[in-house]
Amino acid sequence: MSNIYEVTYDQIVISFGGQANSPVKIKELRDDNQLSLGDQDRILLAPRLPKHTLFLHQTHGALGAYFNSQAQIINFKNLITEGDYLISSIPNCSIGILTADCLPVVFYDPVKKIAAVIHAGWRGSVAGILHKVLADFKNLIQSDLSQLQVWFGPAAQVCCYEVQPEFRDNLLLKEQVLLDQTLLQACFVERNQRIFFDLPRYNYELLLLGDILGHNINRKFNLCTICNVQFCSYRRDGLESGLQVTKVLLKP
Ligand SMILES: [Zn+2]
Repeated sequence: MSNIYEVTYDQIVISFGGQANSPVKIKELRDDNQLSLGDQDRILLAPRLPKHTLFLHQTHGALGAYFNSQAQIINFKNLITEGDYLISSIPNCSIGILTADCLPVVFYDPVKKIAAVIHAGWRGSVAGILHKVLADFKNLIQSDLSQLQVWFGPAAQVCCYEVQPEFRDNLLLKEQVLLDQTLLQACFVERNQRIFFDLPRYNYELLLLGDILGHNINRKFNLCTICNVQFCSYRRDGLESGLQVTKVLLKP
């Protein structure tokens, strides 16, 4: 399986995949009505996931898991535990997430040698998933957040990510806990009486408020999944869309 973008930094290797290495089409997971969605993931998807890589059963929420011992990994079964981020300090074992327009985010603490991979769609983002992960790095790992390195992967961008006026109105009305009104407004762009949401910017602003330094946020791989056909996009392809794999490997 070829990865579309691979970056090596210090002790980690990050791969942002695309259509070329999607393990499944979304419709394959939706076709069999005999099974619940969770069971379909476990039965159909789990055997096709990349080897030696840990995945949670993603729910667009703000929960996750932290692996800091080999024993946890030996007992771990992919897609059984629910959550949308993984943190790991275990070398030679990858952690992964699947996306199709949602924002993949990678964190790395080069001092503590600990990495995280995060599935940040709009639901998880608004539910505060990045704050949750930052809190884990601060409280469980005692990271100096100004040292934390961050990468944004391919995701739906403001060029294509159209939303209904109700979406913006709801967010402006309800979500003033994480970002204030001015910053929230800046995450929406109007063109030809249509409204577009800037999901990466929303998360970028959250990170800055969470003491991450702007120059430590790498957006080189943060291309638009909707208008770049090498990536999986549910917005563009619906159920025909694949799921792209973002993986992070801690080197020994
Ligand atoms: Zn686009």
